[in-house]
Amino acid sequence: MTTETSYNKTKIIATIGPATSDKETLRKLIAAGMDVVRINFSHGTHEQHLEVVTNVKQLNLELNRSISILGDLQGPKLRIGEVKKGTFLTEGHDLLVTTKECIGTSEKIYVNYPALPTDIQIGDPILIDDGNISIEVTEKIDAENFNTKIVYGGPISSNKGFNLPNTDISLPCLTPKDITDLEFAITHYFDWIGLSFVRKGQDVTDLRKRITDLNGTARIIAKIEKPQAIRYIKSIVKKSDAIMVARGDLGVEMPLEQVPMLQKKIVERCINFSKPVIIATQMMESMISNARPTRAEASDVANAVMDGADAVMLSAETSVGKYPIEAVQAVQKIVKSTEDGWDIYHKGKKPSKSSPTFLSDQICYAAVQISEQINASAIVSLTQSGYTAFKIASYRPKCNIFIFTSNKYIFRLLNLVWNVRVFYYDRLESTDQTITDVLDILKKERMIKKGELVIHTASMPILSKSRTNALKITQVD
Ligand code: PGA
Ligand code: MN
Repeated sequence: MTTETSYNKTKIIATIGPATSDKETLRKLIAAGMDVVRINFSHGTHEQHLEVVTNVKQLNLELNRSISILGDLQGPKLRIGEVKKGTFLTEGHDLLVTTKECIGTSEKIYVNYPALPTDIQIGDPILIDDGNISIEVTEKIDAENFNTKIVYGGPISSNKGFNLPNTDISLPCLTPKDITDLEFAITHYFDWIGLSFVRKGQDVTDLRKRITDLNGTARIIAKIEKPQAIRYIKSIVKKSDAIMVARGDLGVEMPLEQVPMLQKKIVERCINFSKPVIIATQMMESMISNARPTRAEASDVANAVMDGADAVMLSAETSVGKYPIEAVQAVQKIVKSTEDGWDIYHKGKKPSKSSPTFLSDQICYAAVQISEQINASAIVSLTQSGYTAFKIASYRPKCNIFIFTSNKYIFRLLNLVWNVRVFYYDRLESTDQTITDVLDILKKERMIKKGELVIHTASMPILSKSRTNALKITQVD
């Protein structure tokens, strides 16, 4: 781990695209504070993605870092087809929607989903181009066509998104393209898989089965961007490994005015269930073309940090924007300033006595409480599954969290988690030896100094590799 980067507790995810794929730009993004690279499978080819992944893995080795890799599956996103240049949809006029391929006009548009005329009901609202245009179903015609009325019109161009907030779409959560993209992601050891347009817990379970069948170890981020996902949020949070508040589509599918409250409620639930949570989309939107963010954007990033998000995410700002490095730098500064100046610490739910993990959870909880009482500089933990890292982070300690693991599959994974920094360590002789070793490593890396207090959590005896059951305080000598 290099010391030139600043250690934010809230992590920064940057979507990589044509503006940032080359190794030197990625190096600059890491120096600016990027913790996780996001590959968006909605754009680009596997060849392009592989270049990014190879660059990141090389940089991790060169810089002794553990930048995490997230592959975001497109999911069942509906889109209109090609549209004649200059097409304008006029309020009050009829618009025919067809699943038979054609060039769209002001009277007729094509949508890429054959079962749509069966799925829709009369009166269903439809939003096109992020909600800039809205239409309503007025008449079912046949298996390929239905009629709509234009409620809010405007200019329209090819391939825009087509959202049906109130319709139960019968498409499965994973399309054939998603399955191919998933295989690619597993082959190249991505750490996290983003699942778009999740509707229920079973969608997450289905993806998990596919990952297991591919012998993959990647963990799942359920993207909350549909009203159905809000309805089934309890089971989705339970079944996923992390959650993304995907405000782009969520703000189209739900009344926009509810998005800020949904963000806060989802973040709170995730912290209580020790699941990392990401706030995504439009955080620095104006920086796609400007070198400085707006005041509202600065406030948005700060508010996500205050809510307690594990990570904030940039999309077009870093993938195709004009100022990708500046965008990450701006986020980094806002995050740092908010973490220094606002009490975002000590969250999460007290461990429950009835939980099968109660004893180890209680050790994690106590470690965080003691860290505050004795003004410790770090909590240092060993983990094989990552469980302890997720748990300790969810209690949001003010001191650093240093995680040691010999499991190479969680080494990069945990870089997404709030305040967690990971070190590889595979010498498991005795607890005493391990404590001496990890302190030596942290001293060498200048992560701790003489005189500071450090809290260790561990599992004793070390070789039994059972759950965390011990807590120790050390003064660094
Ligand atoms: P997307 O997801 O960028 O894949 O659409 C994020 C969002 O909808 O906010
Ligand atoms: Mn989306």
